[in-house]
Amino acid sequence: MTVTRTSAPTTPVTTARNGLDGVLARPGDPRYDEAVATYNLASPLHPSAALTARSTDDVVAAVRAARRAGLAVRSQSTGHGAGSQASLDGTVLVRTALDVPVRVDPDARTAHVPAGATWADVVTAAEPYGLAALHGSSPTVGVVGNVLGGGISFYGRGHGVAANHVRSITLVLADGRPVVADADHEPELFWALRGGGGGFGVVTEIEVELIEMTAVVTGGTFWDASDAAVVATLWEAWTAAAPTAATTSLRLMNLPPLPGVPPMITGRQVLVLDGAVQVPRAADLDLAHRVVADLLEPLRAAATPVLDTWHVASPSRLTLTHLDPPDPIPYRGEHALLHPLGAAGVARFVEAAGPGSGTTIVSAELRQLGGAFAAPERPGGAFDCTDAAFAYVGLGLATPDGAGATADDLARIAVATGPWRTGFTAPTFVEGRTQPQRTFDDATVARVDAVRRTVDPDGVFAGGVAPVVDRPAAA
Ligand SMILES: Cc1cc2nc3c(=O)[nH]c(=O)nc-3n(C[C@H](O)[C@H](O)[C@H](O)COP(=O)(O)OP(=O)(O)OC[C@H]3O[C@@H](n4cnc5c(N)ncnc54)[C@H](O)[C@@H]3O)c2cc1C
Repeated sequence: MTVTRTSAPTTPVTTARNGLDGVLARPGDPRYDEAVATYNLASPLHPSAALTARSTDDVVAAVRAARRAGLAVRSQSTGHGAGSQASLDGTVLVRTALDVPVRVDPDARTAHVPAGATWADVVTAAEPYGLAALHGSSPTVGVVGNVLGGGISFYGRGHGVAANHVRSITLVLADGRPVVADADHEPELFWALRGGGGGFGVVTEIEVELIEMTAVVTGGTFWDASDAAVVATLWEAWTAAAPTAATTSLRLMNLPPLPGVPPMITGRQVLVLDGAVQVPRAADLDLAHRVVADLLEPLRAAATPVLDTWHVASPSRLTLTHLDPPDPIPYRGEHALLHPLGAAGVARFVEAAGPGSGTTIVSAELRQLGGAFAAPERPGGAFDCTDAAFAYVGLGLATPDGAGATADDLARIAVATGPWRTGFTAPTFVEGRTQPQRTFDDATVARVDAVRRTVDPDGVFAGGVAPVVDRPAAA
């Protein structure tokens, strides 16, 4: 069956005529609003029909109903990645929020994670066993979207991308069949799912591997942005030979006054260095303290911080280090993977995003890569490593009166970092389909496409496939 698309975003779907059997909600139905809600308020979604799936049976029913109606199918879990969704005209959006808990197997060191669970759900369930997961910086990001896009964690320089630590993925295919993909069953599909750019089916569960972690040394050191050039130059030089136990991030931030956020870091631009040094076993704590001291002491000596919060914490506290907003906000972002910047690159970055640039964006970040991100212990899926030194991510508010300034700021930083851009991007950090993106080489693109043609010959999920573009596409 060929999937056809309708043109109007809110095309009414008449259940009786199209055979949707009352499974799917249409615009105007509160169940529709629940299913289409996004974290990025600047990226509303307008599918033709929607459903919040609480079980695998719900997903199967939705896929079958959509096909009977001649509609395409796409998925979301938490809506954190809504900015990268293409138009949902003629499409059923399945929000996966499966009504089962995360199940940890401490002996196997794995967690069975239902689609819809967040990284906070996983680390909370794993912590009593001295285990942690390769979660991203935010507790509210969903495991499925994060892992399918690779997943860049503050444990990543020690362990690589999160997608390399997956045992199995359960999904409902275009014919409505639930299948398990792992190293022994559907191995090519298992490979393509991990970073391949979507378009394979609706995932209902991911079995992730957990890592031994008794504690982390984590926190942030904040400086007035006037110290950015000197501190950022020292940090960038440290990253070249940094121990893999540490994964850090350097950001220029403009935070408005916020409840619970120390006033000395709001209402002004600050430079913040945060991240984690892992402590797998109690005996590793002294070494972790030395790593933090080696990093921070020269920086503290070069410029006096306005706030310093590094401390020993339980692994679940790491999801709070990066101060990611827990509640939905309207924003726009831009991302690129970068080569080592050196002093010249740091200077250009600070010039474009720091004091004197006039920037209003909330955050211009350099996330430290290298280590196991570049040389993983074992190969994983389609996106299993990157040899970039940094992931740049710029984020600004996309409120009606702020969106223009944000776009200008992001464009200026893009130009400034241009000479250091690798030409590649990390899938999870791409915000929007019109920005340049490329995850892998053409041979990998072809291999992933071959898997898609096999499992979804009619293109039911084709509308969700991440585009391969090196330059901004037409909006
Ligand atoms: C505050 C914040 C902090 C972040 N920090 C990090 C970080 O540290 N590291 C990092 O790597 N990324 C980070 N991200 C990016 C995040 O990992 C991606 O946006 C990711 O796609 C979110 O996944 P989700 O499931 O929560 O979002 P969703 O919007 O629900 O899903 C994103 C995409 O995943 C796919 N998907 C979701 N559910 C399913 C399903 N059931 N079946 C099939 N496909 C599905 C779809 O293609 C969907 O478009 C951050 C994002 C935010 C907003």
